[in-house]
Amino acid sequence: MSDKFIYLDNAATTKTSPEVFEAMKPYFSELYGNPSSIYAFGGKAKAVVEEAREIIADSIGAKTNEIYFTGGGSESDNWAIIGAAEAYKSKGRHIITSKIEHHGVLHTCKYLEKNGYEVTYLNVDEKGFVDIEELKRAIRPETILITIMYANNEIGTIEPVAEIGRIAKEHGILFHTDAVQAYGHIPINVDNENIDMLSASAHKLNGPKGIGFLYIRKGVKIGSYIHGGGQERSRRAGTHNVPGIVGFGKAAELALSNMEDRIKKQTELRDYFIKRVTEEIKYVRINGDLTKRLPNNINVCFRFIEGESMLILLDMNGICASSGSACTSGSLDPSHVLLALGLPHEIAHGSLRITLSQETVKEDLDYVVDKLKEIVDRLRSMSPLYEDFVQKEER
Ligand SMILES: *Cc1c(COP(=O)(O)O)cnc(C)c1O
Repeated sequence: MSDKFIYLDNAATTKTSPEVFEAMKPYFSELYGNPSSIYAFGGKAKAVVEEAREIIADSIGAKTNEIYFTGGGSESDNWAIIGAAEAYKSKGRHIITSKIEHHGVLHTCKYLEKNGYEVTYLNVDEKGFVDIEELKRAIRPETILITIMYANNEIGTIEPVAEIGRIAKEHGILFHTDAVQAYGHIPINVDNENIDMLSASAHKLNGPKGIGFLYIRKGVKIGSYIHGGGQERSRRAGTHNVPGIVGFGKAAELALSNMEDRIKKQTELRDYFIKRVTEEIKYVRINGDLTKRLPNNINVCFRFIEGESMLILLDMNGICASSGSACTSGSLDPSHVLLALGLPHEIAHGSLRITLSQETVKEDLDYVVDKLKEIVDRLRSMSPLYEDFVQKEER
């Protein structure tokens, strides 16, 4: 085992930053009041919840009464989609999404299909972009919702959200976007991009786990998701997760304050890694687009390699990475995202996702590329398929 520890799976989750943790602490201990209480002790908690709401609303160009705190990205996705389906069913029962959504969206759509709704799953091109013409053709009079992610969690492709928003608006259809990977990483503006609902989650931007928000544009009539008390304008009942909300607000504030620098730094590191891997390792394929891409995302397929074996050997060298999304690992099926790009099974199996943090430095990436070269050589040297391939190449 290695004494190194290099965490490069920041699309799965991030470290709660020390400033965020410090900001949260008092709300577990001395300031434990319930924000819904009448006395001043509860009022203090209410004030910090509202401060966090303001930071978050500002960060996407929304109003505070359009931000609803939830238990995370998956809950926000479920609420947006099921809520819209129920509220607008008298208009129609057709929903449009894409084949590369997170399971929080895809499985919610599957659930609705079992309950009398029809869902169109749009194809993507070889870079992972939704086809705008196909989207236009998919729209029907009974379409009530378009839900397309802002940026993909596996390959980092940033979708043409503003264009999708404009089309949805022209047709009077609600537009929801799962922005869990994008929020806090790249600029978002719900008005410029005609977004009606947006999901985000704190633990993807150095905030705590189990807290997210759903932005719901004023006038969108989706109903309550958790029934109970009057919290969150009675639309999402349950005592506020005060430490979580405070942490989310702090994480958003920090993420927004250094976004430009972070984008620049991460983009450089990302492109450096991609350059080294493509120049120094044979038979690789970079998945996703090279520029319309999250600054911290790298996704590469190595031919003749099993992704799982590669991850285990990386782990033995102190490197945490992923073969796709954390939610699908453990199953032997290749990622639905890579298959949607049109990759054959055997290539999709050899994928590696590296997602940078704001602490990642060039030396980390050099170490990873050096180890990868050894690992790829070693695994290929054991592969009969590779041996056949090389012999054919040499002939
Ligand atoms: C992580 C993630 C989610 C789920 O968020 P949780 O807060 O973990 O429930 C949803 N969508 C995308 C794109 C994600 O990356």
